[in-house]
Amino acid sequence: MFEYQLKKSTRRKTVAIKVHNKKVTVYAPQFVSNKQIEKWLFNKQAWVRAQLTKQLYITDTRQYPLRDKQVLIFDRAVNIEFKQDVKSEVIKCDNNLLITHSSRVKNLGQKYQQLLEEYLKEQLTAYIEMRLAYFCEKMGEELPMRLKIAIYKRKWGSCNSKRELTFNLHLIGAPYHAIDYVIVHELAHLRHLNHSKAFWQHVERFFPDYKAPSKWLKQNSMGLQWVF
Ligand SMILES: [Zn+2]
Repeated sequence: MFEYQLKKSTRRKTVAIKVHNKKVTVYAPQFVSNKQIEKWLFNKQAWVRAQLTKQLYITDTRQYPLRDKQVLIFDRAVNIEFKQDVKSEVIKCDNNLLITHSSRVKNLGQKYQQLLEEYLKEQLTAYIEMRLAYFCEKMGEELPMRLKIAIYKRKWGSCNSKRELTFNLHLIGAPYHAIDYVIVHELAHLRHLNHSKAFWQHVERFFPDYKAPSKWLKQNSMGLQWVF
């Protein structure tokens, strides 16, 4: 199920769960048996897991090593391990991401964030560059003048009249299909710098199924953001 610490007390009258610092604590009255608690917790699994997942993205810089973390990469949960080695680098192996840092690193939390973000940016840039070339050709557009990937709070992408395109780094966690939609959306802005009917018709022409990924992104925007 999940690991937890059980704290029983004679004064308590109800059972309660607390998820804090990625740890689960269960408070229960003395008279409730461990078996009853287990049974009760069984039904709370989904909730506890959701709380833990939320907290996975929160890095406590005082904690070391920063273990048992996960990040979404193209809609797949990848485990992250952070440890000291001869140099700072990121190595991907199957479903694991090993982030190493040298012994000279002072601020581990900051280094961890920097290495992880650089890695994710590289992955997203490579994918977007490839798909931009594909969709530009399909849509009869020249390649954009500039491509920028950064963390934004309120947008997945943007496009301006200088043909500069930006994409939110948090898109890295989305499925390919949703990223493709954002690319087509921004490319469509090269012709229509608004969200007019003509704009949406243009999007639909090259990405007929645009409503599903657009809805998916709206519903999952919180889950795609990570906080250090
Ligand atoms: Zn738009």
